[in-house]
Amino acid sequence: MFDKILIANRGEIALRILRAAKELGIATVAVHSTADADAMHVRLADESVCIGPPAARDSYLNIPALIAACEITGADAIHPGYGFLSENARFAEVLEHHRIAFIGPKAEHIRIMGDKIEAKRTAKRLGIPCVPGSEGGITDEAEAKRVAKDIGYPVIIKAAAGGGGRGMKVARTEEDLVHALQTARTEAKAAFGDDAVYIEKYLEKPRHIEIQVLGDGKGNAIHLGERDCSLQRRHQKVWEEGPSPALNVEMRDRIGGIVAKAMQELQYAGAGTIEFLYEDGEFYFIEMNTRIQVEHPVTEMITGIDLVNEQIRVAAGAPLSVKQSDVKIEGHAIECRVNAEHPSTFRPSPGTISYFHPPGGLGVRVDSAAYQGYRIPPHYDSLVGKLIVHGRTRNECLMRLRRALDEFVVDGIDTTLPLFRTLVRNPDIQNGQYDIHWLENFLKTGGIEGEQGGSNG
Ligand code: ADP
Repeated sequence: MFDKILIANRGEIALRILRAAKELGIATVAVHSTADADAMHVRLADESVCIGPPAARDSYLNIPALIAACEITGADAIHPGYGFLSENARFAEVLEHHRIAFIGPKAEHIRIMGDKIEAKRTAKRLGIPCVPGSEGGITDEAEAKRVAKDIGYPVIIKAAAGGGGRGMKVARTEEDLVHALQTARTEAKAAFGDDAVYIEKYLEKPRHIEIQVLGDGKGNAIHLGERDCSLQRRHQKVWEEGPSPALNVEMRDRIGGIVAKAMQELQYAGAGTIEFLYEDGEFYFIEMNTRIQVEHPVTEMITGIDLVNEQIRVAAGAPLSVKQSDVKIEGHAIECRVNAEHPSTFRPSPGTISYFHPPGGLGVRVDSAAYQGYRIPPHYDSLVGKLIVHGRTRNECLMRLRRALDEFVVDGIDTTLPLFRTLVRNPDIQNGQYDIHWLENFLKTGGIEGEQGGSNG
């Protein structure tokens, strides 16, 4: 096992990794930018190293500074968390070169899945169902028109290097297509430095359902059921839950089995997520994330398996601690991403938290690095914390979430807590009847304005 893990991240995920390391008896090193000197992950780690100024490219993305921090502290492994360098294949290779373990999958798999065209090709080869679309990248108009006509309108144009929902354009007619192709390529070039795009069928009312996997890198891989992340705003997940209200045991076993088999064939190492759109009983692969995800606690709550612990074990060459037959889905879990944003305009609200009271009690988990007096810096994402609630049934979970949200107090800044207080009381949400457009439509038609939302407190 490792002696010391350096955590190349910040915020709640840095704390999450620190907790797993401590429970394994492994020492921890926090790194931080000058803007994060007072952060909770820095306070709780055994050691800390300042790696640069506030801008992420000069600190959390600064590979030489991270390697120097390992050398200074004697850390023998790095956990990248999510975002930042977590899906950077070159980083994984550089670490290998320096004999520092990367707590994540093989560089080769990060690279394949980071290119969405290559990822789709690989998924298809492994027997995973995909959205109908172009075989590879699309370069010219004529080809785009041919493919679109073949699969039928509407279609969506997506960036091969895409992420965070950027560079996607929907075309409903051939006239739309020409313009969409151009703007998608321009946006992809600007956002990712790569203008490769591809086309797929645009699904009108799908749900976003993703399967969590764990692999030991030697051909053993299991699935841990699904998370339903259909409640999104601007393609960003807002509320995640598991099991999905739309699936039954047979459907879960079928898609989970397909995915686990594919990961065995790939000899995938560590934690990963295979994302699907789901419509009319069919699953369509959209992408794979080769990292721990923000919403991983949903799966931890319904399986009792510590995903970060398993990531660390596998990176150290140990086997997974569980077999497929050990994985039992119990009860229901919901996660709310509480952001420092206005609950209806979504304007970012950095600043100082003057009062912080997280909820507690049976089945309630708060993953947050916030505390009273903490100043949220304007340089990074706006996540204040994640509220995750577990119940024996979905209904119990919803009632528990309702009371946990009512207990949660964050003063001094705007947060999205009032939005969740409204959502948890909405009949469609209570019935589990929503698709990936539900939240945007709800916000467009008034959202929390006029509805129960109340003050931020
Ligand atoms: P990113 O990597 O940028 O997050 P994804 O491929 O994961 O991109 O897609 C993000 C979201 O965009 C999905 O959750 C879904 O809401 C929407 N989306 C992507 N592909 C399609 C499609 N073929 N049809 C309809 N919606 C889609």
